[in-house]
Amino acid sequence: MYEAKHQGPGNIALFHPSMRSKRESQAELKASLYQALEQEEFVLYYQPLIDFSSQSLKGFEALIRWQHPQRGLLAPIEFLPVVATSHLMPALENWIFKEACHQMSQWNQEFDFNKAFKMNINISPDFLLHPNFINNVNLAISESGVNPEQICLELTENSFIGHSSDVETLLLTIKRLGISIALDDFGTGYSSLSYLHRLPIDKIKIDQSFVQSFDSSSSLVGITRGIISLARQLELNVTAEGVETLEQFRQVQEFGCDNAQGYFFSHPVPGVEAKQLIENPEFWENLF
Ligand code: C2E
Ligand code: MG
Ligand code: MG
Repeated sequence: MYEAKHQGPGNIALFHPSMRSKRESQAELKASLYQALEQEEFVLYYQPLIDFSSQSLKGFEALIRWQHPQRGLLAPIEFLPVVATSHLMPALENWIFKEACHQMSQWNQEFDFNKAFKMNINISPDFLLHPNFINNVNLAISESGVNPEQICLELTENSFIGHSSDVETLLLTIKRLGISIALDDFGTGYSSLSYLHRLPIDKIKIDQSFVQSFDSSSSLVGITRGIISLARQLELNVTAEGVETLEQFRQVQEFGCDNAQGYFFSHPVPGVEAKQLIENPEFWENLF
């Protein structure tokens, strides 16, 4: 029944024994989530964001990992869907938000960063629409002492669907604090242009699937150029996600993206390694 529901309305699914073991391992994961939060088994990894105009590192995106005692380091795809069914999402994301603010504040003290150096934090609809969201954001900012202008929230379109007037009010409150808003994975889903027009969005992040199909699809190159020129018209900053090769790097630079992110520059890394990347400005200069 769950499999059929998962596939969407009007579907049927035949039972297979593998479904039972999948369900069981998900149930086990779900049961260990509470303990994981308490025992601080979650860690943040950081992936560099590159700036074309200053030809330098301009910040990081914080990405969650679970250091599972038996299963090793788990990627978000392996546990976030389970968290989403557990009511723990707001608590986990509150921890993520606090941790990322603290990390940024620590780097500010060590490297004297100004407001142009950003920490991007992914926010799910469950956290954004939680009644304590604004309080939690205010608390994390005041406790960490981070400059809110260094924080950028990455939202996906599913935060807006069905809630657009509540979300508009929320986003305006967030913006008044100095925090900026990026629309993540742009180009997938509905990519409704009315959101770009109506909501106070500062940046779009072009989904990695576009950049990664440059070699195989000239129409996706055309769409990417179109998205960038649309963003220019709307005075939005544009980040290309999933840059894996030198050619893709050159191409997104030529197309006029402001920022880029991808394995070509660095995989997401733990805080200590991210600090080493900050301490090595020549590495970034030599890329250009
Ligand atoms: P996202 O926010 O779009 O993050 C980018 C994802 O693309 C990351 O995967 C990153 O490791 C991966 N990536 C970066 N560069 C490349 C590349 O060049 N090639 C390829 N193939 N992949 C690249 P990750 O860390 O596994 O996260 C996956 C998704 O999980 C994120 O996508 C985001 O939607 C979600 N996520 C991660 N951390 C958080 C979090 O703290 N909160 C929430 N709500 N979601 C999160
Ligand atoms: Mg993101
Ligand atoms: Mg993305």
